[in-house]
Amino acid sequence: MKTTLLICILILSTVCNAKENIKGSWIVTKSGRVTLRCRPFDFSKSPSPDSLAITNILKEQNDCYNEIRNKLKLNDDFEFSIYLFNYDEAKEKIGTNGGGHANSKERIIYYTYLNPPIKKSPNGIHEYIGNHELVHVFAYRNFGRARKIVREGYAVAISGDFSAYKASNGEFYKKPIELWMKEYNEKNQVLSPSEMLKGGKIPYSQFYPQSGFFISWLFEQYGVEKVNMIYPKLRLYTLNESKLKKEFESILGESFSTIENNYLAYCKLKK
Ligand SMILES: [Zn+2]
Repeated sequence: MKTTLLICILILSTVCNAKENIKGSWIVTKSGRVTLRCRPFDFSKSPSPDSLAITNILKEQNDCYNEIRNKLKLNDDFEFSIYLFNYDEAKEKIGTNGGGHANSKERIIYYTYLNPPIKKSPNGIHEYIGNHELVHVFAYRNFGRARKIVREGYAVAISGDFSAYKASNGEFYKKPIELWMKEYNEKNQVLSPSEMLKGGKIPYSQFYPQSGFFISWLFEQYGVEKVNMIYPKLRLYTLNESKLKKEFESILGESFSTIENNYLAYCKLKK
C-alpha cells in the first residue's frame, strides 16, 4: 500500500442521501483506503473527533481492512468511506447513536462517534468503529446478499464480539461472543443452527452473538475457504430449508444433523 497520505479539507456537504441525513459541514481526511468524514470542532453539543482521534480512526480502519481481508482470505481491493456523526445527532440522522450501519453497495459506513470510545476485551484498546460494518461490505462484494445466519454471523465472528457491557471498573467494553455463549448456556437458550438458518423473529441480542459463534466454529472446523463457499448459496429467496441444509452437506461433506450435533456439543463445553 502507498505511504499514508493525510489530507485535511473542510467542506460544506451539499449531497443529500435519501436514507441518511448527511447535511452540514464535514472535515474530510483520507489515509490509505479510507476517506473519513467527521464533524468540525463545536459542530454540536457532543464532542467532534480531534486530530489525534482522526489519525487513530484512520489507522484503525485501514488495520480492520487488512485484518478482514486476511482472516477471510479474500483477494479483494477497494476503497471505502465513513461518515462519523456526533453522538447527539446520530440517532436522528442515521437511526442509532450506539453504532451504525453500512451501505455495502456504495462502500459507505455511517457511524456514531463515541467519546470515550468503547474498549476491546481483553486488551483494553479503544475501538472507534471496529470491523463489523466493513465485514458486511467485503461479504456483499464477494458473496452477494444472503441470509442473516451468514450475513451477521460473519460480521460478529470476525470482530469476536457484539454490543458492549459495563465492567466492574465502570468502563465499557465490547462483549466477547464467548461471554454471550456462557450466559445463553446458563439460561438454556442456545440456538441450534437449524433455528438460525430459519432466521425468523429471534431477538437480535440472541441471534447476532450466536450466529457469530456458530460461524467462527465453522471456520475452525472446516476452514474459511469452505465456509466462504457456503455463504453465497444461502440465498434469501430460497425458502426450502432442506435445500439450504443440502448446501452445507455438499460443501462440508457431512450431514447437517452431524454438523448441528457437533456444534451443540461444543457449545455445552463453553458453560
Ligand atoms: Zn451487522
